[in-house]
Amino acid sequence: MTDPATGRRLELAGNLAAVQRRVEKACAAAGRAPSEVTTIVVTKTFPVSDVRLLAGLGVRDVGESRDQEARPKALACAASSGTPEAGLRWHFVGRLQTNKAASVAGYADVVHSADRVKLVRPLAAGADRAGREVGCLVQVSLDDDPTRGGVRVDGVAEVADAVAAAQGLRLLGLMAVAPLASDPAAAFERLAEVSRALRASHPEATWVSAGMSADLEQAVAAGATHLRVGAAVLGSRPPLG
Ligand SMILES: *Cc1c(COP(=O)(O)O)cnc(C)c1O
Repeated sequence: MTDPATGRRLELAGNLAAVQRRVEKACAAAGRAPSEVTTIVVTKTFPVSDVRLLAGLGVRDVGESRDQEARPKALACAASSGTPEAGLRWHFVGRLQTNKAASVAGYADVVHSADRVKLVRPLAAGADRAGREVGCLVQVSLDDDPTRGGVRVDGVAEVADAVAAAQGLRLLGLMAVAPLASDPAAAFERLAEVSRALRASHPEATWVSAGMSADLEQAVAAGATHLRVGAAVLGSRPPLG
């Protein structure tokens, strides 16, 4: 009989391999090298035991979307010194409340959801307090739907300038979630255009975080450098409350 942890490990390994094959195929179709694309495994709602199994399977980047869940998971992994999970890079991909920003900057390596100037000061304060540098992506709204987060395209430069000027924060690039109601390929092409425009003034801002389980192929085709993949690796999750 296999114990449950072994079964889960095999399941995650199989799912990871399937996602890796999808990424390789999409890269081949786009004439890109798979090394240009980093897959971040989004572990929200799943237990820290899954995070540890993923780290053991070679995953280096994990994503979370709520501070109250992410903080204890990140701190538990960091405390397991000498293990693969202690070396994970933590990505915060969810909507960020202003009063949680300083906390998130205490453990996140990269915050994907910087979408307003008001977040910059608490993020920088949290980074400073923890004595670390935090990478930031400006989240762009491609459909102006206020419930999904993101700054409108015409506000990107202002947020990017504020991040770039802040001590302890490093501007890395842009993030977007494809709008529900439209073609993800068109949305990701639009994001690529916004990225080109941003790099004219911030050449260091090279990351494009786009693409999830359902649309990673379209994101790779449009030039995404980082994919945020949850369900395709971990299985379906209960809806977030
Ligand atoms: C949950 C989440 C993901 C992962 O979505 P899947 O469809 O499970 O791959 C990616 N990005 C963000 C911002 C998320 O909140």
